[in-house]
Amino acid sequence: MKFPRVKGVMSRASRRWSLWALLVALVVALLGILVWLSGRYESSMVQSRLEHDAAETVTDIRSGLTRNIQTFQALQSGERTPGAWHAPAAEVLREHREIMRLEWRSESLDVLAFVETPYRTSVFERLGRASMQADVALTCTTARRLSGSAYSTSYFMPQPDGLGLEVLDMCLPIVVAGRLAGYTVATYSLQDILGELVGRQLARGVGLSFTEADGTRLALHGVPSRGNRIYIAQQLLDLPGNTLVVRMESRLGTPALFPNVLTALVTAMSLALMAVLFLLARDMRRRLKVEHDLGEALAFRKAMEDSVLTGLRARDLQGRITYVNPAFCKMVGVEAKDLLNQSFPSPYWPPELAGVYQQRQEIRLAGSNLPREGHESVFMRRDGTRFPVLIMEAPLINAVGKHTGWMSAILDVSEQRRVEELSRASQDRLQATARLAMVGEMASLLSHELNQPLAAISSYATGSLNLLQEETGADRAHAAAPTPAPLSEDLQLAMRRIAEQAERAGKVIKSVHDFVRRRDQVREAVQPRALLDAIMPLVSLQARKLGVRVVIEVDEACEPVLCDRTMVEQVLLNLSRNGMQAMQVQPEGAQPGASAVLPEKVLTLRIRPAASNAHSRWVEFSVIDRGEGIAGDVAERLFTPFFTTKEEGMGLGLSLCRTVIEQHGGFLGFEAAEPQGTIFSFTLPAAPARDGASAQA
Ligand code: ADP
Repeated sequence: MKFPRVKGVMSRASRRWSLWALLVALVVALLGILVWLSGRYESSMVQSRLEHDAAETVTDIRSGLTRNIQTFQALQSGERTPGAWHAPAAEVLREHREIMRLEWRSESLDVLAFVETPYRTSVFERLGRASMQADVALTCTTARRLSGSAYSTSYFMPQPDGLGLEVLDMCLPIVVAGRLAGYTVATYSLQDILGELVGRQLARGVGLSFTEADGTRLALHGVPSRGNRIYIAQQLLDLPGNTLVVRMESRLGTPALFPNVLTALVTAMSLALMAVLFLLARDMRRRLKVEHDLGEALAFRKAMEDSVLTGLRARDLQGRITYVNPAFCKMVGVEAKDLLNQSFPSPYWPPELAGVYQQRQEIRLAGSNLPREGHESVFMRRDGTRFPVLIMEAPLINAVGKHTGWMSAILDVSEQRRVEELSRASQDRLQATARLAMVGEMASLLSHELNQPLAAISSYATGSLNLLQEETGADRAHAAAPTPAPLSEDLQLAMRRIAEQAERAGKVIKSVHDFVRRRDQVREAVQPRALLDAIMPLVSLQARKLGVRVVIEVDEACEPVLCDRTMVEQVLLNLSRNGMQAMQVQPEGAQPGASAVLPEKVLTLRIRPAASNAHSRWVEFSVIDRGEGIAGDVAERLFTPFFTTKEEGMGLGLSLCRTVIEQHGGFLGFEAAEPQGTIFSFTLPAAPARDGASAQA
């Protein structure tokens, strides 16, 4: 029965756990995605900023170069002699670090004048300027064709210090009055273009470089800050005659997981979410435990309410029934659904009493305090039978201390009443029998006592009569004139009458005695167990009152006994009562409250076969108590009529018991029990086997 339930609980628990696992996994995945997305967002922001910076850089370079061209044009507009050109040209080179060399060339590309940058040793020192003549010519041809500035492809110039420099020539035709008058050729250092023409704020923390289309780096300016994440942006620098790629490189040093505040915030919030989730789970677990405990407590309560034999009924303040337990439903034979929410008159009220009950309920509901002790009432079952109940009511107080109704405990006392009635009747019957038996015992005693004086009277009267007769005979022999003596005649008559009356009194007494004894002659075969069963209600009643436990030991091999049932029951009852009373005596020196040290009060009623022979079989009845036992002086007079040690005792019980048992041919005796107490035992003859049902002895 229990197994499927356990399985159900387990599958429910595992489902709950898998739900939790799913939730946690989802949250973790969500958070992961969130962090990843915010990282991506961050890097895309960095990337686009870098792209933007690269575009700005290109613009910067282009405008720088354009400004330079204007400077070169200005240089040529003045006095047109190489001597006059030299000083302002040198000034230009001082201002523009990116220009390595400035040349004024004739239409045939001969160098008319030139200045070199003051910041370096001559770029062409190692290879000589002539080595580049072909390149310059090509560039200037392009410039002339374009009627504007043109740039050469960049080329590498090894330097005396072992390093080298990537440079680029720019050729600007000089036009005077619409006619070509020569060329200005400027040699730029690519690295210095990056250093000089690019805004400082753009170049900070990034690596700027010129590369060729295939990625070959030509010049580098600045070092990207340290970091493991590289962002690259490339922009084309489209110059007349040459196209360069400006490459911007940035590294992010911060760990990629927390690239910025947003990600950090998201991460922190995720952690907070996880913590809340964890707390929630813990709270849930506690709740589940409490729920489980509550469920157990409820189940226990329900089991208790369902199994208890007392009827339970709750009513609200208007008298409507709000709860009944199964015991109550069973008691009145009405189903719970027919009782709930029922007001007056209740379905279990006997119609003839409904009016009285209604009044009583109204009075009870009007007042707020009820008597704590129960009151008796009569209820009706569905089949119409009435039965007495004991009702105990108490106010129902809810969790916030508000009085919400009444709770009643209802006991069906019909069985109790029946037992009480039975025991009362049985007690009456036994008392009557006891009284009769006592009268019989007294009559028997009287007859025994009176028989002797009567016999004495009778024999004295006979003796006196004999004496008188003898005397009368002697007088007749001596007397001459025989005269009858009237006195002696009268005396003789009186004596005879006395003897007759004494004899008659004796007969009357004997007949009374015989009459009393004749009652004992009613015998029947009875199962020994039946004798015990008959007295058990009475014995139990008294045992409960005196706190005694009654133990019955019946040997099933016992045969039916031949006895006067009522009398033997009386004997058993008497002995049991004596035994129970003997256990009420406190041992000397014992405190009334110190019951823990007292032995348990147990009265044993034992029936077993007694020693038998071929002619007669006997059954032994014993009543064993754990009282004080019987002292020697008491033992001597125990069976004497009217001997008692009790204040209200008659002292006839034991003598009567012995008489009854002896009349049955049995024997009543007592002995000390181990470790303490007394055993009173008596024997009764077993009924002859052939006529089991009833027999006359
Ligand atoms: P009563 O019970 O009226 O006193 P009984 O003849 O039944 O008269 O008993 C006589 C006395 O015998 C009792 O007063 C009591 O002192 C003593 N007696 C009887 N039964 C027991 C017993 N089981 N244990 C100790 N004393 C007993």
